[in-house]
Amino acid sequence: MNAAAGGHDGAQVGGPVTPTAKSRAVHHTLGLRDVSIDGGPLGRWQATNRSASIPLGIKQLEEAGNLHNLRLAAGEATGEFKGPRFMDSDLYKQLEAVAWEAGREGGEDLLDFLRRSAELLTQAQRADGYLNSHYQVVKPDRRYAELEWSHEMYCAGHLIQAAVASTRVGGDPELLAVARRFADHLVKVFLHEGNPGIDGHPVIETALVELYRLTGEQSYLDLASRLVENRGRGQIASGGMGAHYFQDHLPVREADTEVGHAVRALYLEAGIVDLYLETGDESLLASSVRRWEDMVATKTALTGGIGSRHSRESFGDRYELPPDRAYNETCAAIASVHWSWRLLLATGEGRYADLIERTLYNGFAASTSTDGTRFFYVNPLQRRYDHVEGDDPGRRHEWFSCACCPPNIMRLVASLGHYVATTVGDGLYVHQYTQGTIRADLPSGAVKLALRTDYPWSGTVAFTVETAPPGEWELGLRVPGWSESTSVTVNGAAAGATTNTDGYVVLRRTWERGDTVTITLDLTPRLVYPHQRIDAVRGCVAVERGPLVYCFEQADQADGVDVEELTLVPGAELTARDEADLPDVGRTVVLSAEALAVSQPDDGLPYSTRPPAQRSTSRPVTATAIPYFQWDNRDGRAMRVFVPVHPGATS
Ligand SMILES: [Zn+2]
Repeated sequence: MNAAAGGHDGAQVGGPVTPTAKSRAVHHTLGLRDVSIDGGPLGRWQATNRSASIPLGIKQLEEAGNLHNLRLAAGEATGEFKGPRFMDSDLYKQLEAVAWEAGREGGEDLLDFLRRSAELLTQAQRADGYLNSHYQVVKPDRRYAELEWSHEMYCAGHLIQAAVASTRVGGDPELLAVARRFADHLVKVFLHEGNPGIDGHPVIETALVELYRLTGEQSYLDLASRLVENRGRGQIASGGMGAHYFQDHLPVREADTEVGHAVRALYLEAGIVDLYLETGDESLLASSVRRWEDMVATKTALTGGIGSRHSRESFGDRYELPPDRAYNETCAAIASVHWSWRLLLATGEGRYADLIERTLYNGFAASTSTDGTRFFYVNPLQRRYDHVEGDDPGRRHEWFSCACCPPNIMRLVASLGHYVATTVGDGLYVHQYTQGTIRADLPSGAVKLALRTDYPWSGTVAFTVETAPPGEWELGLRVPGWSESTSVTVNGAAAGATTNTDGYVVLRRTWERGDTVTITLDLTPRLVYPHQRIDAVRGCVAVERGPLVYCFEQADQADGVDVEELTLVPGAELTARDEADLPDVGRTVVLSAEALAVSQPDDGLPYSTRPPAQRSTSRPVTATAIPYFQWDNRDGRAMRVFVPVHPGATS
């Protein structure tokens, strides 16, 4: 345990975001070990992350050359630099994942990888604190000379985040020493010497705030603030991408919508909210909330996926949300979780946890195969049979030449417990439901709850009080926006609780050991219609159940039923079927509906003066859907989330 963990309880093992005691946070984060997840999809993801994904990542860092590059910089190897210039960041994200995993469940092999990596980084680091294998090996005379593309501060940011994680879980102090030397160097150049430059790829901002939280060193917070204030002044518009790509087109307080590269945009937002939390600058929070609301209303896929354009991995126009051409980079889903979490801490509003849930269970979870060894970089909502696309192969891959996503997935999965619950005064608030336990320190003493549930397959979550402090305290339970009817009982009796304006049922009473609270959310499968202005899916419908978005994958349809021909009728009844172990998919709930397969003649131009209802034939079929996050674990044929409403249907 490390006494420098910070946050509201200095003795705890901090998690990824640990605001200081004097921050503006309304909700306070728990320690990494205060939440344990021991079942359900989240538990399985964590187990697979540890057993399959993290070992794969460590192997890939060796094979792809990330470690080789640093050995070159350290003078311990000979040869050529390998891969893109931001290769160091893949190692840093992997180190962060390894740190959270070691903090969660221990593991000498993981701690050893952290130690060996820290030694290598110490050797590679220049005497002045600078550290970047690409610039040291390939372009030693171009240090900070091409910041729009260099990723020097981006790599530094991920190094800092890895070091913060390692320190918070009580790891070897060497990694933090490396990170601080680099951070001090950045402070010297970009704060004290007045270099006005900003990195083309944000993440350094939130990393510096976390380093400030960990160490108390004010200059890290000051530099984060400087970098945010310097952005939006058009200084990195070069290279034909334009200032929008880099979010350098408007000062952050003036921008009202997300533009440009989606991961860059949302990492910057996380940094902006972090700055608000520690400085109290309300104008930063107000601008970030404004853009979050706009993004949710007009630029978010049903799955929570973010960034609708392949071109420049960027946001599209408002309502430009194509299912087939959606880019939805996995890293953008992760960045969205990071941003929404900070907004939740800042405001206490459950809508942020709602988006986190939608993103986690859908747009994010789909990134990884059931066995944890293959990953999506691009997460569309539709794949056709004949799909060919250079930057979206349509199947998950083991690794990528630009491998930003896999280690990013691993660091989020290893730290999932961080996003489950918080405290507010004498209240314990639960934001995500999972099998497991939650422990928290309230002013009057420690609380421990056991959570028993089969969520998200079942909508019932039972909380048993295992430890209760004396006197009254509050239990807050998020009521997801999708739950049409929700009931809460205490020791079997209806609690009569109402949902407050933040989206939580709050129960205040004197609790006894053994008290049981049960919340039952409405998992009735539902048809979901898109906004009229989303042209790409106008006239279509999707299916959801609880937090899960469903998809129609060819592998689940009966012989002769083609997913490209499926249509649904408004009011179609959806039937749920439990599957304990669907082959290659695992535990799931399958939905089916009576549907109509529609075919049209395909001779000549695919356009006609005759409306679809007059030139199509329909036959009744059964349409079968599985959760979107479980697609592409079988034969790689067609998949679609949205299907047309039957052309003859009236609603
Ligand atoms: Zn990525």
